[in-house]
Amino acid sequence: MATFDVLDPASHVVVGTAPDGTVVDAVAAVDAAAAAFPGWAATAPRVRAEVLRKAYDLMVADTDRLAALISAENGKSQADARAEVAYAAEFFRWFSEEAVRSEGDYSTAPSTGARTLVTHQPVGVAALATPWNFPAAMATRKIAPALAAGCTVVLKPAMETPLTAIAVADLLREAGVPDGVVTLVTTTDAPAVVTAWLEDERVRKVSFTGSTPVGRTLMKQAADRVVNASMELGGNAPFVVTADADLDAAVAGAMIAKFRNGGQACTAANRFYVHVDVVDEFVARFGKAVEALRVGPAADPANEIGPLISERAAEGVRALVRDAVAAGARIAHEGEAPDGGWYVAPTVLVDVAPDAAILQQEIFGPVAPVVTWENEEDMLRLVNDNDYGLAAYLFAGRLQDALRLAERIEAGMVGINRGLVSDPSAPFGGVKQSGVGREGAREGLREFQETRYFSVDLST
Ligand code: NAD
Repeated sequence: MATFDVLDPASHVVVGTAPDGTVVDAVAAVDAAAAAFPGWAATAPRVRAEVLRKAYDLMVADTDRLAALISAENGKSQADARAEVAYAAEFFRWFSEEAVRSEGDYSTAPSTGARTLVTHQPVGVAALATPWNFPAAMATRKIAPALAAGCTVVLKPAMETPLTAIAVADLLREAGVPDGVVTLVTTTDAPAVVTAWLEDERVRKVSFTGSTPVGRTLMKQAADRVVNASMELGGNAPFVVTADADLDAAVAGAMIAKFRNGGQACTAANRFYVHVDVVDEFVARFGKAVEALRVGPAADPANEIGPLISERAAEGVRALVRDAVAAGARIAHEGEAPDGGWYVAPTVLVDVAPDAAILQQEIFGPVAPVVTWENEEDMLRLVNDNDYGLAAYLFAGRLQDALRLAERIEAGMVGINRGLVSDPSAPFGGVKQSGVGREGAREGLREFQETRYFSVDLST
């Protein structure tokens, strides 16, 4: 079979190759998944749970190797890669615990007296597609609930990061996942493979994580056969600081929310709204921390931020900064980054016009634009005047104020006085054009189940 090269974004050296799958491979993967489905769906939940638990153990034990692989093909720092392995493994543990707790219901219909029995059954063969920014976690966040529910899956990872997905599939085999339950198709032709799956009548579910434009295309394709679709799409998270916020906590939260994975996260803080009374102090403290960030290849464990995923991505972020500066923004603080390559220096921008492009679209890089606010209603209008609604962050002195504001921010997840919202036990997902459906928590299992009921007349 033809293969394609995988590059280290830091050195641009080839770190591996992956099979370049075609439509024929896509169909063969569904053949395998469809053949394995009845057996896996009928496997006792306890057995499915124990396979997932074994996968958790194997993944944690293999942290060093997996983290090195993630850094090699994605470029993220060793610390970020290790954190990703821990996060990714946790989906196996969480859903091993959920697999045995899929309860049903038994009730009496109020008018007729018939009995209603409610149960949750696996939806069927699920097609999964994942992005490059969390190559392990975005895969396990889908595979774990699917397997817990009794579904079989076909997975297409991003072509930038297929090696981690291959390692996860190997690990699942070692954990005891039977043949056909998880089948990978790596490819340079994502549209062909995913379209083949969406057109295949045996595929009953699509779960996608990636950009909003691609998600929109897949939802349209899914509509043709009314395929059950879960979409985890782009974000444009606001980060709000009120006048009475604990500024040390806000800066610590900002460093995580903005610079984890070098800003290449769908939950990354994209735009900072800081109250006028504290903006100078916040920017001074934040800027000091930003200037101290170490940027460079993951090969050096002291580096905290790696390169961006591609030249195009790096150039896109630089262009957003250039445009913002041309429109009147000022670079208040700038860290250091190696010359050349796909690095972008961590940057704090101030005096950003509220309608600047950098505030409207995902930056996906280590740049923090700061906007000043004075009036709460005006701030909320700016925060919500956006097509996205994935994550938001809010730092405020009084919990009452924080909750009052959080309820009015249009986002699926709001971090209150903390800069991290991702948690396998919590329902991850967005509102508006950030997606449909949730991953993690009980909700994540439900995405791979059909609710069915049986209506029974006991009187005859
Ligand atoms: P992308 O949409 O370009 O690619 C995601 C996946 O879709 C990849 O596997 C890609 O190969 C595939 N793909 C691309 N075009 C396709 C097509 N026409 N048909 C079928 N498949 C196609 O996104 P990306 O650049 O890999 O990832 C970054 C984006 O993902 C950002 O927008 C980010 O916010 C989003 N993201 C969202 C979440 C979330 O949970 N909401 C998590 C991580 C990333």
